[in-house]
Amino acid sequence: MLEVRDLSVKYGNFTALHSINLTVQPGEIVVLLGANGAGKSTLFRTLSGLQRPSGGAATWQGTPLTGGKPEFNVSHGVSQCPEGRLLFPELSVEKNLRLGAYVHRRDAAGNERELEKVYELFPAMVDKRHAPAGSLSGGQQQMVAIGRALMARPSLLLLDEPSLGLAPLVVEQVLAAAQQINAQGVSVLLAEQNAYAALSIAHRGYVLESGQVTLQGTAQELMNDD
Ligand code: ADP
Ligand code: ADP
Repeated sequence: MLEVRDLSVKYGNFTALHSINLTVQPGEIVVLLGANGAGKSTLFRTLSGLQRPSGGAATWQGTPLTGGKPEFNVSHGVSQCPEGRLLFPELSVEKNLRLGAYVHRRDAAGNERELEKVYELFPAMVDKRHAPAGSLSGGQQQMVAIGRALMARPSLLLLDEPSLGLAPLVVEQVLAAAQQINAQGVSVLLAEQNAYAALSIAHRGYVLESGQVTLQGTAQELMNDD
């Protein structure tokens, strides 16, 4: 499981995360709800090895994630789909996807199989695979960003605000994709501001306010709370 214990992150004198505790069990979709600035991306960057904590620990299947080497975390099954997608807009869809496989760069055959799996998950991407990623709609770009994260073959997917800037119908499609990925055995930690949509696919959730967990429960409990 993902175990985050008393995790704190500071930027200079400012404390962005105050002793956070949370877990994700294998097979779960857990949502992290919070407004802008609550600390969601800070937590995700820390779990990706991009940000060093000032205290506490985080482990996935017993492996520490806070050593500060992103490639280590990715090769131990933790892959992030970052907020804002961060595709290379001039590169083709397929080149963007292949970049996600950088920790498996010596396994060309495995990467071809993985690419086929991504195209099976997102059939509409096949016709677009040679198009510049920047020419796609926001929803399609989000799917490419998810596909790129899957090319790392994660057992835990960190999905940071995938609904950002998307129309409600497209949000539903993106969250349905997350559910399908989860059904294939990938645990998912999903950061969202959009509580209702996210809780509709999550098993459990946590509410993050100003860097502190203020509420936690099953999706049903959190849905009833507001
Ligand atoms: P969220 O993803 O929930 O919007 P963030 O993790 O991006 O929240 O930000 C949490 C808090 O930390 C905010 O107050 C933000 O301004 C601050 N913050 C984020 N990144 C930095 C940084 N690199 N330096 C200083 N403060 C930061
Ligand atoms: P380079 O150093 O060659 O620019 P990076 O390691 O920065 O390569 O990233 C290569 C690709 O992998 C990019 O598309 C980036 O978004 C993605 N990536 C980087 N870190 C992670 C991570 N922790 N999880 C998943 N994908 C990542």
